[in-house]
Amino acid sequence: MPKDMTALSLGIDIGGTKILTAVANSRGAILSSDESVTPVTKSREAVIQSIVDSAHRALKQICVATSEVCGVGVGVAGVSNPEAGILFTSPNLPGLRDVPLRDIIQERLGKKTFLMNDANAAALGEFYFGAARGVRNFLYITLSTGVGGGIVCDEKIYSGAIGGAGEVGHMTIDDDGPICKCGNRGCWETLASGTALAREARQRIREGVKTSILEYAEGDVDRITAEVVHSAAEQGDSLARELITRTGYYIGVGLANLINIFNPELIVIGGGLSNIGDMLLEPAFKTAGERAYKEAFLAVRFATAELGRNSGVLGAAAFALQEMRKTSWG
Ligand SMILES: [Zn+2]
Repeated sequence: MPKDMTALSLGIDIGGTKILTAVANSRGAILSSDESVTPVTKSREAVIQSIVDSAHRALKQICVATSEVCGVGVGVAGVSNPEAGILFTSPNLPGLRDVPLRDIIQERLGKKTFLMNDANAAALGEFYFGAARGVRNFLYITLSTGVGGGIVCDEKIYSGAIGGAGEVGHMTIDDDGPICKCGNRGCWETLASGTALAREARQRIREGVKTSILEYAEGDVDRITAEVVHSAAEQGDSLARELITRTGYYIGVGLANLINIFNPELIVIGGGLSNIGDMLLEPAFKTAGERAYKEAFLAVRFATAELGRNSGVLGAAAFALQEMRKTSWG
């Protein structure tokens, strides 16, 4: 048992590529963590067993028994109802549809469990321990393979009627745009994500545009990723720079919509794509400034996420603590 006597909780962040689990204390320190590959193509039972195994490994690392953590918080990509504890649908986890995930994990681990969307968990992580400490009204936006978001109003996650709020990546930006995995067309994430950036690069190369991008992908068009485009842009490739500016422009269009709707004090931007930095974010902020209401734009601050890949797992752990405290104060 660690000497640190502050309350411990277990956070689990279930994504389309990895399951990240951590034992954290109430100050946001991670005492142990475990990472494993999400068995996306396997059965529902295999995914659930991987989650439970990961939790046990994280606990075992520091010799903490399940009975010594006060609760378990689970953040999962997709649309879920936190109150009912049900994951309705997760585009990256086709095996988990209409699953009472909270109760299943609660039963397997024998510990009170809470479920939430992964972007909401990341927003809470930044609220408690990161870039949004002390901010009552803010938006957390993650720019990654997709685009996700968390809305914090009056220090609480706004989750909507059935827990589906915050799906900012699926607001329509171009009614005739590319088809999205949600079935709609022209969603924000089809234009402003890492996947979109890589897709545009592949398309332009197939059309015959001259670029050095391919050299960074071992000559294979199918190996082009957002990171590849970024590497080429850093070396001055003009197509790569143009595509990053274009992606930034679309990020800005979506940000303008969000600024006009929510008038937030702060927008925290995280996710792997945002690591590109100014080359991507300057055109994004410029476009947002041109399109949003001036007063609302002048009132908003932008910050980059501080917790990196741990924002979701720390937020999920903090959510469990927060909910357990509510219960005990009853
Ligand atoms: Zn969509």
